[in-house]
Amino acid sequence: MTTFADLGLSQKVLSAVTDAGYTTPTPIQAGAIPPALMRRDICGIAQTGTGKTASFVLPMLTLLEKGRARARMPRTLILEPTRELAAQVAENFEKYGKNHKLNIALLIGGVSFDEQDRKLERGADVLICTPGRLLDHCERGKLLMTGVEILVIDEADRMLDMGFIPDIERIAKLIPFTRQTLFFSATMPPEIQKLADRFLQNPERIEVAPPSSTAKTVTQRLVASNSKDWDKRAVLRDLIKEQTDLKNAIIFCNRKKDVAELFRSLDRHGFSVGALHGDMDQRSRTTMLANFKDNNITLLVASDVAARGLDIPDVSHVFNFDLPIHAEDYVHRIGRTGRAGRSGSAFSIVTRHDTKFLDAIEKLIGQKIEWLNGDLSTLPAPTENDREERRGRGKDRGRNKNASHKTDTRNGQNTTEETADRMEQVKQDRRSDKRTQNNNRDQRHNTAPNPANDDNQRRRNRYHDYDDGPTPVGFGDDIPAFMLITVNSKG
Ligand code: AMP
Repeated sequence: MTTFADLGLSQKVLSAVTDAGYTTPTPIQAGAIPPALMRRDICGIAQTGTGKTASFVLPMLTLLEKGRARARMPRTLILEPTRELAAQVAENFEKYGKNHKLNIALLIGGVSFDEQDRKLERGADVLICTPGRLLDHCERGKLLMTGVEILVIDEADRMLDMGFIPDIERIAKLIPFTRQTLFFSATMPPEIQKLADRFLQNPERIEVAPPSSTAKTVTQRLVASNSKDWDKRAVLRDLIKEQTDLKNAIIFCNRKKDVAELFRSLDRHGFSVGALHGDMDQRSRTTMLANFKDNNITLLVASDVAARGLDIPDVSHVFNFDLPIHAEDYVHRIGRTGRAGRSGSAFSIVTRHDTKFLDAIEKLIGQKIEWLNGDLSTLPAPTENDREERRGRGKDRGRNKNASHKTDTRNGQNTTEETADRMEQVKQDRRSDKRTQNNNRDQRHNTAPNPANDDNQRRRNRYHDYDDGPTPVGFGDDIPAFMLITVNSKG
């Protein structure tokens, strides 16, 4: 069996790995570390939870032992799609690099430029960034990328989802062609493959676990519920109380509004609970995560955007309060538990309107998920009240007047209309996330859009960092000039 000592890592790195308590490299580590140490490009297809972070951090630490950083000229650059992931990678450098004296700079939004500038001035061996913030620093003329020897593009499929690829292309153009590039993605659809072909030269390709698989250590169950939110909340509370082995849990909702609502409800019912969603400011999110990791709170209600990719080891349970509308999100959510070979449980609340999503999930993961206490047919039939209410809601929204009234033959319910409504709501939610965040970004920088600067403007318009900054209050920093004029009230 391969050991860490077989991989060619330096003594300093090996001793930090031993101190971290790891004895055997994971498959992505065993596959990627030796070629990375030989300065080969890497194309790693691996999800979070597979030990992928260490598979680039460990060889980078070894390679960085030769040479020194110069002011404003970072030696290596790691690009991450979200602030949380960037912060997580920085933590990995601290853990595995404890025997090194390396300067690590974390350039993420929501933190002051001055502090980041000071770090860059000192000379950074490792720069860990979200793409937008890195470009901002470059535009301010505070960074020279010509000394970058290693470029890591992590979570490439998420970068694509979030509209960051043009930014990454711009960044790659600033870095010498002779660099080594380490590229990681959880999935490799054709457009990601094309990207990899553009960025990599003769890469070593390492693929671990197929992208659609859920860990074997996770017990998955479906729980039937009526579709009203208060029904689902009661089902969830009972489920949580029934779990004798629950240490902590992440509870997923599809919409940030529902995250807030469910959080308030659980709090009212006396559960130890916190919430994580894209509208929270960075400080609250960091505090919330720290509290969850330190077991100060037991339950964390979260949206996909806020929680995807987070490395929270040792989560015993995942609850899907809503079944995700994108099947891949199911795999990502379930992946929050059962990490590093531990066992975990995942419960999904399923209503009659979810059958389409459930089918897609079961098709993706290639297995049927067991029902906990009987399937949807065991639920009491919806009352005339329920039906009335649904019809009433439909009338309120003119859009539904012409909606199709196809019937799902398996459960005898009119699911098509409801399903379309829900998908539209989630889409609207995500669109509003993007709008908020575009606003935040402009307001934080206090830069009125400047049509003269087309390039900048285009980038801002498509800037999709869902995890960007707080929602502004009132006018935020952009108070119109006429409101600042002093008026002499005495006339
Ligand atoms: P990652 O895929 O980088 O998010 O890592 C998932 C988790 O696995 C992290 O909590 C790591 O600390 C842990 N881990 C990384 N490498 C190993 C290893 N060789 N053995 C056991 N756990 C590991």
